[in-house]
Amino acid sequence: MKTIFRRIIDRELPADVIYEDERCIAIHDIHPVAKVHALLIPKKEIPRLSSAEAGDQELLGYLLVVATTVAAKLGIAETGFRVIINNGKDAGESVPHLHLHLLGGEPLGWKHG
Ligand code: C5P
Repeated sequence: MKTIFRRIIDRELPADVIYEDERCIAIHDIHPVAKVHALLIPKKEIPRLSSAEAGDQELLGYLLVVATTVAAKLGIAETGFRVIINNGKDAGESVPHLHLHLLGGEPLGWKHG
């Protein structure tokens, strides 16, 4: 069965797209926990960070570089932003398709989200 994010990538579900290229897509989170809350999702379906393999190293680095591009598009590259990956149950992972949360637009508490 397709994950919600696969369905968004395949344009079967609507999403507010901020950035897209051949390897990833960035969307606004539908339940923001900060003034600015975006998700950066690789098109390759890696369930979670701990499922990533050696061959995914380049993609993972790429996502971190694109995170700054997305932050700049959202106007938070200069003021600051936080990147979070929730891995597994205790971290609150709810969609089993790797994604980076980008939070910003306001001062963030350390125990954010
Ligand atoms: O890290 P976690 O798996 O909990 O994050 C999933 C995120 O995806 C949530 O912040 C949720 O609000 C977001 N989401 C979304 N659009 C959907 C389904 C979930 O932005 N259609």
